[in-house]
Amino acid sequence: MAISDEYIQRLLNTVDIESVVSPYVNLRRRGRVFTGLCPFHNEKTPSFTVYPETNSFYCFGCGAAGSTINFVQKIENLDYVEAIKSLSQRAGMQMPEDGYDDSLSKRRMRILSANREAAKFYNSILSEPRGEKVLQYLLGRGLTLKTITHFGMGCAPDSWDDLKKHLNSMGFSNEELYEANLVSRSEKNGKILYFDRFRNRAMTPIIDLRGNVVAFGGRVLDDSKPKYINTSDTLVYKKGRDIFALNFAKNTGSTQLILTEGYMDAIALYQYGFKNAVAGLGTALTREQAQLLSRYADEVVLAYDADEAGIKAKNRAIEILSSTGIKIRVLNLTGGKDPDEILRKYGRERFLSLLEGASNDIEYKLLAQREKFDLSTPNGKLEFLREAVKVLADLDGAIERDIYISKLSEEMNVSKDAIQQQVNELRSKRKRYKERERVRELKRESSGEGDRLNPARNVNLRAAKAEERLITILLNSPEFFGKISQSIRPEDFVTDFNRHIFTVIYNRLSEQRSVDLPLLTGDFSDDEMSRATKLSLQGRGTAYTVAECNDCINVIKQESDKKTGVKLSELSNEEFLNLFKKGNT
Ligand SMILES: [Zn+2]
Repeated sequence: MAISDEYIQRLLNTVDIESVVSPYVNLRRRGRVFTGLCPFHNEKTPSFTVYPETNSFYCFGCGAAGSTINFVQKIENLDYVEAIKSLSQRAGMQMPEDGYDDSLSKRRMRILSANREAAKFYNSILSEPRGEKVLQYLLGRGLTLKTITHFGMGCAPDSWDDLKKHLNSMGFSNEELYEANLVSRSEKNGKILYFDRFRNRAMTPIIDLRGNVVAFGGRVLDDSKPKYINTSDTLVYKKGRDIFALNFAKNTGSTQLILTEGYMDAIALYQYGFKNAVAGLGTALTREQAQLLSRYADEVVLAYDADEAGIKAKNRAIEILSSTGIKIRVLNLTGGKDPDEILRKYGRERFLSLLEGASNDIEYKLLAQREKFDLSTPNGKLEFLREAVKVLADLDGAIERDIYISKLSEEMNVSKDAIQQQVNELRSKRKRYKERERVRELKRESSGEGDRLNPARNVNLRAAKAEERLITILLNSPEFFGKISQSIRPEDFVTDFNRHIFTVIYNRLSEQRSVDLPLLTGDFSDDEMSRATKLSLQGRGTAYTVAECNDCINVIKQESDKKTGVKLSELSNEEFLNLFKKGNT
């Protein structure tokens, strides 16, 4: 864990936080800080703030916060040492060779290399007799050998341990293969048996943006269940985080991505020349995936299946994608149940014309509502208009709203003003609601109610506030520590969460080490780091005094005594009852 303070300081003097963040967030300068749309939650107005002076960031929307190192950890899903390695590479700096624990990153490397070898193995089986069935299956689905090779597809043989034996012979232990989720295990008579997880399946490797094989999808050849098995979560793979084929699609130079439900559709599209096709991986589209797509494209075309499940998934995807601000278009698949079938039945031209005719998300939503009602009756018309107003009220651009309102008024033969008025009313109603929510949220926050990070805060509010203030002061004016170190110890802290933050600061200052935020990254959990960052930022530019430290210390000690100083058994009945009358706050 111990990478020297000196190295981290030198590293962060070399790489600016704004240049680390800017590939992921469109940053605007606002005085001494930068702001942009938060990459960790969905928002339409920027609350993500970068502070170059302290090499830190803070999101006023979701509370994500930390140092440059935390940012790299979170956005690239790396551990602490890996993040520092990645920053060092950027800076062209040589990381000190020893003195840190990188066992986690070594385990990840082992999984990645086992995965790579497994992919090679599965692929090689296709040219052997035992892979014939899978090869015929893939060719039968219309894939060419070139496509099969491009995606590194392969065959998991119909055997319990062919892959295991092969990888064992290359020096991978059963435990490592189990950790990579390439083998499963079961216990029999106290003995653990390991066996191949994927058997008799067509295999497709899932490759991340850096070209690593992070997981596999395995499909059966017949109608047996489960149709697909995917790698479960491992140290290198988390369900709902990656996008299939984005590693290829991102290099096509296209600003548009075609998103399909299953990876077989994306592979088929690729073969027909749509090299910007990507796929989700066996789950409904997640916010993380939506953010990822919005980083690589200006527009996403949804090419989901035409069945009921597909429509549901599509509506959810529209909702999630629209909060990233990316342009959305929706393909109306006619003549087949999924892109693969349409391509095979009618070829590339048909799909191209579907792409050209794809509606944007507003048109799609209006269309979907229209289909629900009988527009030949006044009642149906009214109901449709009511729903249409809701769709249009979602639009933030005034011009865009005006265009659709005009269109709707013509089509439905209703005055434009009437529709406009209803849309405006709904918009101000929603705005008022949002305002109220925000105020409620602020109240909750200041009362400490429901503090996710520090659950004890609510019941020890007075103490917690003093603890936080003391942390804020020391992070901003560490020079006071000498004057107060005799009067407070971490044990005096009332809430566990703050006590741990304080312990780290206390130990560092006792050893006369710096408490610059980035240096604390390795000592804290994510939650502790984001709270420490928030507290530190609260005190920026304020001139504190030692007297204020002492006020905090007095409060902490009073509260601490109240909590532990009273031994219930020594109290008289009267005193005992009084304790409850006074209340404990
Ligand atoms: Zn956020």
